[in-house]
Amino acid sequence: MREGQALASIADLQRQAEAAIAAAHDLAELERLRVEWLGKKGRISQLLRQTGSLPPELRPAFGQRANAAREAVEAALARRRQALAAQEEARRLEAERIDVTLPGRPVWRGRRHPLRRVEMEIIEIFRGLGFTVAEGPEVERDYYNFEALNIPPDHPARDMHDTFYLAGDILLRTHTSPVQVRYMEAKAPRLPVRIIAPGRVYRRDDDATHSPMFHQVEGLLVDRGIGFAHLKGTLAEFARRMFGPDTRYRFRPSYFPFTEPSAEMDVSCPLCGGRGCRTCGGTGWIEILGSGLVHPAVLRAGGYDPEQVSGFAFGMGVERIAMIKYDIDDLRLFFQNDLRFLAQFR
Ligand SMILES: [Zn+2]
Repeated sequence: MREGQALASIADLQRQAEAAIAAAHDLAELERLRVEWLGKKGRISQLLRQTGSLPPELRPAFGQRANAAREAVEAALARRRQALAAQEEARRLEAERIDVTLPGRPVWRGRRHPLRRVEMEIIEIFRGLGFTVAEGPEVERDYYNFEALNIPPDHPARDMHDTFYLAGDILLRTHTSPVQVRYMEAKAPRLPVRIIAPGRVYRRDDDATHSPMFHQVEGLLVDRGIGFAHLKGTLAEFARRMFGPDTRYRFRPSYFPFTEPSAEMDVSCPLCGGRGCRTCGGTGWIEILGSGLVHPAVLRAGGYDPEQVSGFAFGMGVERIAMIKYDIDDLRLFFQNDLRFLAQFR
């Protein structure tokens, strides 16, 4: 082989290799080309191996040229690899593109049920007045629900409190008053007793203003020398904090078996300010709770001597307070879990 021919064939191979490399479509194809040209049995490698079989005078120039070709092919591979990698990166970025200008999806935030909000508000007001929260069972004994509260088996007040009887003398409590007796039993003879008892209660009622399950908050204060003035002062303060500082109130004589004397408390209608509207039936007044001085029989059932101590008690329906506060005319709305209704209470 003449020197010129040999060198020309190297240049030719190099051009072929460079053209193939420049046309490679992806990194896998490029790797195949690297093996084809520079691998152990690659075409350029074979060229270098031929150097030894050449006449000695041709070897230096041929070897030099072949090495230069190998370096050129290596450089071409590196350039193409870089270009393909950049292309692939660009493709990947395009495929995974996130449009940060799209508005985010709003996260649904839960909020408290209106009944729970009102219950918490009532609790907070009485906490501020020195009361602590006491709780008791919803499945109750007849004794705690009725007898200890001065409602013997044949008492007509039981008609109002018809409930769900489970077995024997076990029933679903009709009010949270049993908590008062249980608390006194545990505390007697220590003083003072100053509790509010929030919770679910049950009766056999079901209409626009009554639900078979509803919520009450009751309160009890027992100490030495407690009279009606304490009851009035405490509940007046509650009414002002609950319905606003200009709220007026009045007490009307009433009857409950577990208090004597007993009174119902009205507040000036917070919706019309007392002028008279649909909610207050045009009277300007709205009943919010029942109250009274604790009956001596109840104090005795709780373990206190009515000759030594006295107290007052009150109870209100959370649904009723919420209906007044938010001007809701159907109590069943609270229990239908319709988000259009519930979402209105912020
Ligand atoms: Zn009114």
